[in-house]
Amino acid sequence: MHITSRQHFFDYLAQTSDFPLAIEIEKAEGVYLYGPDGQTYMDFISGIGVSNVGHRHPRVLKAIYEQLDKYMHLMVFGEYIQSPQTALAAALAETLQVETPHPSPFGLINNIFFTNSGTEATEGAMKLAKRYTGRTEIISFFNAYHGASQGALSMAGAEYFKTNFRPLLPDTRCIERNNIADLQKITTKTAAVFFEIIGGEAGIRLSDPEYLKLLRERCTETGTILVVDEIQTGFGRTGTFWAFEGAEIYPDIVLAAKGMGGGMPVGAFMASQKLMSVFKNNPILGHITTFGGNPVSCASALATLQIIKEGNLSAQATHKGEILRQNLNHPLIKEIRGKGLMIAVELENFDLLKKVIDRCIQKGLITDWFLFCDNSMRLAPPLIITEERILQGCQIITDALNEVSLNQ
Ligand code: PMP
Repeated sequence: MHITSRQHFFDYLAQTSDFPLAIEIEKAEGVYLYGPDGQTYMDFISGIGVSNVGHRHPRVLKAIYEQLDKYMHLMVFGEYIQSPQTALAAALAETLQVETPHPSPFGLINNIFFTNSGTEATEGAMKLAKRYTGRTEIISFFNAYHGASQGALSMAGAEYFKTNFRPLLPDTRCIERNNIADLQKITTKTAAVFFEIIGGEAGIRLSDPEYLKLLRERCTETGTILVVDEIQTGFGRTGTFWAFEGAEIYPDIVLAAKGMGGGMPVGAFMASQKLMSVFKNNPILGHITTFGGNPVSCASALATLQIIKEGNLSAQATHKGEILRQNLNHPLIKEIRGKGLMIAVELENFDLLKKVIDRCIQKGLITDWFLFCDNSMRLAPPLIITEERILQGCQIITDALNEVSLNQ
């Protein structure tokens, strides 16, 4: 049976690289993935930041089953009153009622536009910022990733991924994280700055507190919309429910997806009502979606949000992240970066890293790469992982490093 699946994978599925992991999985539960021949893998990347509450969390499954018994798709977003959407929107708005020392000129965020993915959340926010400000320039960061569509790709911070798809959106430019002088490039011509509090695909890059404050100030001063992309950091991964809470700055727009749905596809861009309401006129229906806010996905997302809040999984992410870092000591490790359970382990180079990642998989531990940083290993286990499993994962990584150093 699985031999056929493997053949179909290569024959019929669109391939996006010559090196897919091509690991077959039959079932997933908690932090584990199970292959057809009894292989067991520990998922140390949460399907790239998605399974924050683990795979098939019972409370998520219950919410999904209950919603399936009521209805699935009813109508395009924004017309019918569907309680999975309204309950999730209210719960999200509540998480966003956060006072920070560096607030947004728009006040607290209370309006949620649901999408199907992170890319779509990015696109919606780009349109909202352009429509509200009447400006066209959009600024993002070197080595940032906000999505794969042509708008989102225009903001990608690595030329290699863009060049063969040009022309992309004009009027986009990149600046450098933690470079205070670069903030002067944000001007009264800039519609929006798209920013990850912790640069994910750049290889987990943290921001200086002073820089964060100055970035917020510069956006306010120039009337530029500060969009914080929480698609990878969102829902507790970095030690606070939202990473911006830890950064003590308040955004004008927040993006979420990935971990938000507890394994179901859903995303959102979120803003104050003042900002969001421009989508009502000129043109009417300024942004629309058929499936955005799918009721089953929303039910799953609400259960996920509650599990993270009630179980205080954000605080646990901090504690567990410390345990993980303390137990990764090896002469081949050059640096460990991160916050909470969003971690990068830097080695000397790509070749070494490839050997270590391959060995980890052979030993039943799934770690991964970053898009724009080829010497660092991605570690982002589910937030529900136990300390015992963290130690087990660290041991596997250490063993892999030992074996690779012996064979060097
Ligand atoms: N923003 C960030 C920070 C991301 O990490 C990603 C996905 N890697 C996206 C946006 C795009 O999300 P999606 O793949 O759901 O479209």
